[in-house]
Amino acid sequence: MLSDQDRIFTNLYGMHERTLRGAQARGHWDGTAAIIQKGRDWIIDQMKASGLRGRGGAGFPTGLKWSFMPKESDGRPSYLVVNADESEPGTCKDREIMRHDPHTLIEGCLIASFAMQANACYIYIRGEYIREKEALQAAIDEAYDAGLVGKNAAKSGWDFDIYLHHGAGAYICGEETALLESLEGKKGMPRMKPPFPAGAGLYGCPTTVNNVESIAVVPTILRRGPEWFAGFGRANNAGTKLFAISGHVNNPCVVEEAMSISFEELIDTHCGGIKGGWDNLKAVIPGGSSVPCVRGENMRDAIMDFDYLRGDLGSGLGTAAVIVMDKDTDIIKAIWRLAKFYKHESCGQCTPCREGTGWMMRVMERLVHGNADPEEIDMLWDVTKQVEGHTICALGDAAAWPIQGLIRNFRDEIEDRIKAQQTGRTTRAVAAR
Ligand code: SF4
Repeated sequence: MLSDQDRIFTNLYGMHERTLRGAQARGHWDGTAAIIQKGRDWIIDQMKASGLRGRGGAGFPTGLKWSFMPKESDGRPSYLVVNADESEPGTCKDREIMRHDPHTLIEGCLIASFAMQANACYIYIRGEYIREKEALQAAIDEAYDAGLVGKNAAKSGWDFDIYLHHGAGAYICGEETALLESLEGKKGMPRMKPPFPAGAGLYGCPTTVNNVESIAVVPTILRRGPEWFAGFGRANNAGTKLFAISGHVNNPCVVEEAMSISFEELIDTHCGGIKGGWDNLKAVIPGGSSVPCVRGENMRDAIMDFDYLRGDLGSGLGTAAVIVMDKDTDIIKAIWRLAKFYKHESCGQCTPCREGTGWMMRVMERLVHGNADPEEIDMLWDVTKQVEGHTICALGDAAAWPIQGLIRNFRDEIEDRIKAQQTGRTTRAVAAR
């Protein structure tokens, strides 16, 4: 288990003061100017050495992403944009940072912006996060009052402004280019890439979009050293990570743990075990609703990191939002509900997603009742493959993968339901004669 001394988020549960005074007492905003004065290249090299991979789901190396930003300005300003539009079902980790430990994020924004030569940072927060927005804005105001942001931020010699933008509640605005469109005041519709945001992002200027957790861990990594952070987890999966565990466990929670912890240890140590015991575990969605589910018996020994969950289990760590389902769960209905969500959230811009999400949802609706022919399972699989990878943004994949996971792992259950429905139909027909 991760020891308390190694936790980055020491006020995750709001047990202590979230004010600037409380944050400083816990070691935040300590030596910020000295870190900045070590220079841009030093910061980026340290971040690369730490092995931090983006915490928003894709797992792209953070230091490398920062290095894509231009070193010399061609006259355009650079921007850091923080993606706080946390909207994926099951994912609720950034929320704890923003409402209980907001100064970790604000200090991270200053250092990361400096590393990318950005004098301005925008945080785009999910529309439904009202209290989180209030807490974060109060912390930003405190930081301005204390001179930690603004002109000569934290006496570092760097001028830095930070703006909080409240979204209107569309899931698609969590996609980085849709987020930029929305920030510019347009409809939140993803852009074609290239150009990538590092070349032409917000207002056509070089921009990096990072997740809240990815930025909030930066100051502690730089203070404690990249070797410390890289000491947790397996190679290529470094660091500590917030896991958000929901569903059929005895104590659902958000907890910071070392990467590559086993699923069993994560659940037994922090969640009081599976409801009804380990034999009652049916399925797990290990990384937020968009990754494929995994059968319970394959999850118990799973290593909770990017490479194991993708390579060995055909799923993904995603945002590390772990959704646990016991044997009472109607897994077909659960996946239908996700299909309905993605259909609702499609921006409608590209045909495979606009039409495919609706088509998949309607077939899933019939499968819930077994009201289909067995051949339709393969047809549904084919449609998911026609959507996956053929759309402008990753929402198409996000809609296809849960259904693929269902068919791959629970095909027997779908077939049984169809059979039961057909048998019932025949019995009813015979009885009616
Ligand atoms: Fe919009 Fe879906 Fe296309 Fe993404 S994949 S751009 S959400 S229609």
